[in-house]
Amino acid sequence: MELIFEKSRPGRSHAYLPACDVPAYAFAKEYLREEAPALPEVSENDLARHYSALERRAFGVNNGFYPLGSCTMKYNPKVNEVTAALPGFTDVHPLQDADTVEGCLEVLDLTKKYLCEITGMDAMTLQPAAGAHGEFTGMMLIKRYHELRGEGEKRVKVIVPDSSHGTNPATGTMNGLQVVSIPSAADGSVDLDALRAAVGEDTAGLMLTNPNTLGIFDKNITEITKIIHEAGGLCYYDGANLNAVMGVVRPGDMGFDCIHLNLHKTFSTPHGGGGPGAGAVGCKEFLANYLPVDCSSAICEIPAESVGKVRSFQGNFLVVVRALTYLLSLGKEGVPASAKTAVLNANYLKALLADTYEMANPGLCMHEFVMTMEKEHKECGVSALDIAKGLLDEGMHAPTIYFPLIVHEALMAEPTETESPETIEAAAETFKKVYRAAMADPEAAHQWPVKAAISRPDEVTAARKPVLRWVKEEA
Ligand SMILES: *Cc1c(COP(=O)(O)O)cnc(C)c1O
Repeated sequence: MELIFEKSRPGRSHAYLPACDVPAYAFAKEYLREEAPALPEVSENDLARHYSALERRAFGVNNGFYPLGSCTMKYNPKVNEVTAALPGFTDVHPLQDADTVEGCLEVLDLTKKYLCEITGMDAMTLQPAAGAHGEFTGMMLIKRYHELRGEGEKRVKVIVPDSSHGTNPATGTMNGLQVVSIPSAADGSVDLDALRAAVGEDTAGLMLTNPNTLGIFDKNITEITKIIHEAGGLCYYDGANLNAVMGVVRPGDMGFDCIHLNLHKTFSTPHGGGGPGAGAVGCKEFLANYLPVDCSSAICEIPAESVGKVRSFQGNFLVVVRALTYLLSLGKEGVPASAKTAVLNANYLKALLADTYEMANPGLCMHEFVMTMEKEHKECGVSALDIAKGLLDEGMHAPTIYFPLIVHEALMAEPTETESPETIEAAAETFKKVYRAAMADPEAAHQWPVKAAISRPDEVTAARKPVLRWVKEEA
């Protein structure tokens, strides 16, 4: 497909600007560029077709089933967009006086209040712009707690189960902590003996996701948080994906001190493509003074105990408006109902697939589950990647693959609560069809996808040496 720059023809345009009716202002020469920018010159028709063609090549949750595990690719209700577009929310400036934006401040306060209620926390910040950013902020609070007790130099280790999301060890390291990885027990839960052996005077805390990335709810959770607390550490809950438990059980009641939530996963705000997201961070009362300060006006004093600011102003405000819309439209009954439906849907898909795909963990799951192609890969070379690519040819988005790392040849699926039984049944048929086709002809499977715009790119080079800039060829 041609780039918009390549479609450009000198002089072709679709400007409707009237002639200037005020005297032109001349900038000093040092502020002016020497050459006009090489902007594409295309007609409106060409422009519209170009972007429509790009849109058709992309796949989003509005195109079809999107079972990307760990990511909660749920439908984003259109009413969220209606409220986020209200002029009272869009025509404001972060430097406006607080008394002129009271409605916006109420949105922030109400969202914090509801999220505290859902998580069992006492205080919340909406500043962080992503899940990883929230984790980083939350671990700063835990570090600050130890520092102010004079134990900062001693408590330098953060314990992370080997099933954790990759951002957890990264967050620990970025905060200057040493990451201690502990193995999972055979059923995917935390190995309590390994945990007891890992804690000590040097423990700053634990980072945990429950249900974990295998989709398993750890029944020993209160014992786990107790072990950490008795060693003098604090417990951090990675609540990026709260879809299985929101409104049902609360991380605060499980013994966690601090948490982040991805509003762009669980609370139905858009994600993918790099954001904008929102990684709300909540904590218990004793950590509240260390939270980043949400300055509501230009003049803002940051208390000495606070970790400071982690983002400009109030974070991604319009994302918060969408999340609050979601919470208000679901209501107190709708939030747990949504979580239970997410769990039901995941178990329905799991049950439909269990006679074809080997499950990493048998039995009931929470909002997601993991399949493994380890045996097929050993026996006839068909990999998780082949299955994922085959699904693309069937017009479906692939599940997450090769994660969690502790399952070999992993395919991880999360259908979410917004899919109907019919969609899940059709998706299961597609999964099975691709499996049968791959096993019947493994060589062909290695060539999939054959219908997609791009087949199998060199993903390492694409990630390490991305070509993101168009450079004009010299005439
Ligand atoms: C998605 C996710 C994250 C990271 O969130 P980002 O917004 O992508 O930074 C962290 N932990 C878990 C368990 C996740 O699923």
